[in-house]
Amino acid sequence: MAEGFDLIVVGTGFASTFYLREALAHLPPSARVLVLERGQRRTHAWQLANPSARESERKPTFTNLTPEKPWIFTLGFGGGSNCWWACTPRFLPADFAMKTRYGVGHDWPLSYDDLEPFYCEAEAAMSVAGSDAHSPVPRSKPFPLPPHRLSEPDLRLLKAFPDQFTVQPTARPTQAVGDRPACCNNGVCALCPIDSKFTVQNTMAQVYEDPRVEVRFGARVQRVDIADDVARGVDYVAKGVEMSSLGGFVAVGANAIFNPHILQRSGVSHPVLGKRLGEQVSVNVDILLDGLDNFQGSTSITGHGYMLYDGEHRRERGAALIETLNRRLLRPERGKWRQRMLLKIIVEDLPHEDSEVRPNADRPDVPDVRFGGWTPYAQKTLTELPRLLGKVLAPLPVERASILNRRNPSESHVIGTVMMGEDPETSVVDRHLRHHRVRNLAVLGASAYPTASPSNPTLTLSALSIWAARHTFSAA
Ligand SMILES: Cc1cc2nc3c(=O)[nH]c(=O)nc-3n(C[C@H](O)[C@H](O)[C@H](O)COP(=O)(O)OP(=O)(O)OC[C@H]3O[C@@H](n4cnc5c(N)ncnc54)[C@H](O)[C@@H]3O)c2cc1C
Ligand code: SF4
Repeated sequence: MAEGFDLIVVGTGFASTFYLREALAHLPPSARVLVLERGQRRTHAWQLANPSARESERKPTFTNLTPEKPWIFTLGFGGGSNCWWACTPRFLPADFAMKTRYGVGHDWPLSYDDLEPFYCEAEAAMSVAGSDAHSPVPRSKPFPLPPHRLSEPDLRLLKAFPDQFTVQPTARPTQAVGDRPACCNNGVCALCPIDSKFTVQNTMAQVYEDPRVEVRFGARVQRVDIADDVARGVDYVAKGVEMSSLGGFVAVGANAIFNPHILQRSGVSHPVLGKRLGEQVSVNVDILLDGLDNFQGSTSITGHGYMLYDGEHRRERGAALIETLNRRLLRPERGKWRQRMLLKIIVEDLPHEDSEVRPNADRPDVPDVRFGGWTPYAQKTLTELPRLLGKVLAPLPVERASILNRRNPSESHVIGTVMMGEDPETSVVDRHLRHHRVRNLAVLGASAYPTASPSNPTLTLSALSIWAARHTFSAA
């Protein structure tokens, strides 16, 4: 006889952790919650001692049919919070309504205004630092922490574009937060040596210490048991043994590669399930400055430029978010060492029908992942970049600017595959991330995004988890 729980949560990344925290705020003291995490709980010290473990743990978990396009994530307690760079922009209001505003992509079934209070809660939990004076979006609350210090070139851009340039919001704190020291600009944030950036482990581990919660590591969920449009529980493998647990509600937060695969293996079918896998595409621009020193900022990425982001151009080409990088990249010439600047231009793409996650009959545990290429929508912005950059760089004394030929192979953002929407015919989950038919099944994270936006996805998916769990459990 399988054991029973009120709630089963799959995964311990951002999506699952924020969802679970909110659910616990509404569940009764007698509730029983099971969390199943396929990876292990690795301490920060262990991760520093084993820096290559992430890649070797990730590689065997899916088959990349288009290996020129990597998909990067981290398995284990805290998921991608261990390896992320902690850049936390909000999406712009237009990002939620691309079809209505610009006739491309799909509208989200919720608006920026719907999500705004939940953005505030996610920022508070992560202790995000940012600039209230130069926010590109309306805010109902100030940032939890003051902004990082900009570099001199950043300050020139801020002066020239006061409404289109800001300090990057980030979960790399400007002051100590609990045991997390202030960010001191080591610039290797994927594994912060001083454990400064937000991770689930250093800030939200107490969610998993709630007496109602039982966590099982090394437990890989294979499928959700669904009968008569009701989720009954999950089947999983732990220590090589197949096991089952019954659950009154199941929330799957395994990321945009494994979420659709778990659903596909559960017998869920839908024309868009597994489709529209994607992310942004980015290039770097190397700028030699003439007489202006750089690198005075107080964290690894300091500025955010919105000069190429929103507007009518989005009818035909992708928006671009500009990051100014503050990691030291010195020039060799005497006296000019610091007269250099690196920008990253991150371009949105539209959902691509040929990019997908699909089951493999011969290897049912390992999904096939295929990338159909970036669409002409993103490519048009990249093609026009030399012209577009003229306006952006005009306030700076530029000796030479070179757009580096090679596109960055990955933005490390996995998006799409379990789209949300109002219409069950064209989407898999609703605005509260619940399956349209199987109402006691939620699918969390960026897999639900109808469109990607050029902005980093994680603050938004964390806010979305709080929003979804509050609507589900406060009404229960
Ligand atoms: C190098 C790098 C830098 C990044 N920087 C940024 C950034 O600066 N800003 C930003 O917004 N985003 C960034 N990201 C992206 C960010 O990490 C992801 O958007 C985020 O982690 C997604 O959260 P999630 O909870 O949906 O999924 P994940 O964090 O991937 O968590 C999924 C969890 O599910 C578990 N799991 C998977 N399959 C199963 C299964 N079958 N059974 C049980 N458990 C399972 C995994 O082990 C994991 O714990 C970065 C990513 C990388 C790799
Ligand atoms: S810049 Fe340095 S201190 Fe700050 S989060 Fe990154 S690695 Fe950590």
